Amino acid sequence: GEKQPTDLNALADEYLRLAYHGLRAKDQDFTADLRLQLDPNLQLVNIAPQEIGRVLLNLYNNAFYAVQEKHKQQTDYQPQIEVATHTRNGKVALRVKDNGTGIPAEILNKIYQPFFTTKPTGQGTGLGLSLSYDIVTKGHGGEMQVHTTEGEGTEFIVELPA
Ligand code: ADP
Ligand code: MG
Repeated sequence: GEKQPTDLNALADEYLRLAYHGLRAKDQDFTADLRLQLDPNLQLVNIAPQEIGRVLLNLYNNAFYAVQEKHKQQTDYQPQIEVATHTRNGKVALRVKDNGTGIPAEILNKIYQPFFTTKPTGQGTGLGLSLSYDIVTKGHGGEMQVHTTEGEGTEFIVELPA
């Protein structure tokens, strides 16, 4: 894709709404508390918007899935997804944090592998994170990090050169 100076805040917001509305079209009883903490002074980033858009959708869909799964198991639970942007060490960072199922430590080293999925057939291809990782690192010279606690939630951080 063609890189262009892009407002990552607008992209992050737009795709979050897209993911949420797509999900609620299928499951109207599902609600999640969405929190956007967008840095108003964020610099434009030189990215291919459609590719980074795919990364955002993958991260959001994973986050929504994780909170939905927990919602099925726990009645007294309010799904929450937080998306934040900020500038850090001359880089632009985007954080997607959910309070869903979390990722078990035993599988954490496999999540970026192509075709690795814990989802039932038809619900996951296992390609989302592998593709996202390549787009961020090889495609944009950025970095991806994950912090997770099983049962508590997960946070993915995407860092892009400003
Ligand atoms: P898929 O979503 O098709 O399974 P991904 O590459 O997007 O493939 O993710 C791989 C696996 O990583 C998922 O099946 C799941 O086990 C785990 N995972 C990714 N994101 C999250 C998350 N936010 N919360 C819990 N587990 C996650
Ligand atoms: Mg996925």
